[in-house]
Amino acid sequence: MKLAQFFDKEGNLRVGMVDGRAVFPLAFSGDMLDFIAQRPEVTRESHAIPLEEVRFAPVVLRPTKIIALGLNYRDHAEESKGEPPKAPLIFAKFPNSLAAHLSDIRWDPGITQKVDYEAELAVIIGKRVKDCTPQRALDSVFGYTCANDVSARDLQFGDGQWVRGKSLDSFCPLGPWIVTAEELRDPHGLHIACWLNGDLVQESHTGNMIFSVPEVISFLSRHFTLYPGDIILTGTPSGVGTFRDPPVYLKDGDLVIVEIQGIGKLVNRCRIV
Ligand code: MG
Repeated sequence: MKLAQFFDKEGNLRVGMVDGRAVFPLAFSGDMLDFIAQRPEVTRESHAIPLEEVRFAPVVLRPTKIIALGLNYRDHAEESKGEPPKAPLIFAKFPNSLAAHLSDIRWDPGITQKVDYEAELAVIIGKRVKDCTPQRALDSVFGYTCANDVSARDLQFGDGQWVRGKSLDSFCPLGPWIVTAEELRDPHGLHIACWLNGDLVQESHTGNMIFSVPEVISFLSRHFTLYPGDIILTGTPSGVGTFRDPPVYLKDGDLVIVEIQGIGKLVNRCRIV
C-alpha cells in the first residue's frame, strides 16, 4: 500500500491511498502520525484526487526524532576520504527540516553558500521499539520513502558537528509517499538514484549499505527508544556534489529528484531566498 499525506481544500492534513495516478482520501480524521500509531481499519473515500492536483505534505510531521546515518555506503566513505565506520555513525536532523514532495528547498545565502544533495532510503518506524534484535527489527518498520538529506557543507564541516548544517528549514524533503513494509519486504533490493537538472549524479543499490536496515534499527534501539513515526535516513551513496572535481553546489532554480525503485520519485526545486 502507498500512503500519502496531503492538504485538503480546507487546509487540513489528510492521509490518502495512492492508486494509479490518483490519491483516494481515507475515511480517517487524523494525520499520518496518528494513522501509524493507531493502525485503524479504514476504507477509502470514493472520490479521487488526480496526482497532479494533490498538495503533498511531508509524509510524516511531528516525529519524535529524525536520525540519519553518515558514511553508510562504502563508495561514499571512500569519496569522502573517511574510513568506513566500525559502528553506525549517526547524527540528527531537527523536524523543522521536513519538507514535502514538490516543495522548495530554500536557504539564505547569508547563512550558507554550499548546499548539497544526498539521495537516501528513509525508514518510517511503526511501533515503539527498545532493545530489539536485528532478527526482529523489520517488525517495527511501518514503511519506506525517499529522502534528500540536504546538507549545508560549509556549516557541516565548519562546525565540527553536523546538526546545524543538516537541519535548516526545508533540508529534509521526504516522499512522495510511504510504501508500507507489507508491500516493500526487502529494503536492500532497491536501485537508488539522484538526478540534478536531468543529469544522473548518484546511482547505487540499497544492497550496498555497510550497515543494513535491521542492524541499524537494532543498534539505535539499544540507545534510544524509537516511537511510531520516527524517521531514519540510511545514508547516501557516492556522487554527492561536495566531493566532485570541481565541487558542485545547488543553485537557485535547480531541480533535484531522488528516485528509489519500488517507491517513486521525490522532486524538489531549489530557491535562494
Ligand atoms: Mg546523509
